[in-house]
Amino acid sequence: MTTDTRRERLIELYHQASGCVRCPLAETRTKVVFGAGNSNAELMFVGEAPGADEDRRGLPFVGRAGGLLDELLAGIGLSREEVFIANVLKCRPPGNRDPQPAEIEACRPYLFGQVELIEPKVVATLGNFATKLLTRNPTGITRVRGAPQIHALGDRTVFVFPLLHPAAALRTPAMKETLLEDFDRLRALLAEPAPIAAEGEKRDGDGDGPPAASSTPAAEPTTDQLDLFGA
Ligand code: URA
Repeated sequence: MTTDTRRERLIELYHQASGCVRCPLAETRTKVVFGAGNSNAELMFVGEAPGADEDRRGLPFVGRAGGLLDELLAGIGLSREEVFIANVLKCRPPGNRDPQPAEIEACRPYLFGQVELIEPKVVATLGNFATKLLTRNPTGITRVRGAPQIHALGDRTVFVFPLLHPAAALRTPAMKETLLEDFDRLRALLAEPAPIAAEGEKRDGDGDGPPAASSTPAAEPTTDQLDLFGA
């Protein structure tokens, strides 16, 4: 896929998500937080769900956890313009409660669509919700963090690299040390060749299809957001 096609298709998916009414979070959100960054990124981050700051601005990880993510990225020589940042849920759960299974299910075509279009080499999952969804394994983040796994997500085989959620490290400073160590491992992983699909591997996300046509017409996107898909 050419760079231009990739970006155009991502913008189409963004338009679909902007008018999404696939779950009740559509009634309480301020803005859909589709995700932002470089549509050609080798590295994609997947967090949990927008918080209050993200809901207000329509951009992922712009609150305190986002500040720490910027700092961790800078530590390995990257900026958020070079990666793509998304979440399991594109809309804020009221009061920042945990995502519900039906919400995760309703939103997953957008996330898998993003992975298929961006074609990253590494998908770094931030916290339990993203890790469990993308590894299809209920093992908690503290046991799986820092070790890459190979998964087929839709039609893309990627390294999934589980990381602690930055918000957890803001609450528990010792976790920041763990995150710093794991970001060093992430830097090393990015230097590896892309993973090869295993013969007959089950593809997660198969059958998701395009998001259902139950969306209302998309709101006009702000150029602010579209600019964040890379030039
Ligand atoms: N936490 C998340 O998981 N995602 C955001 O976008 C912000 C905070």
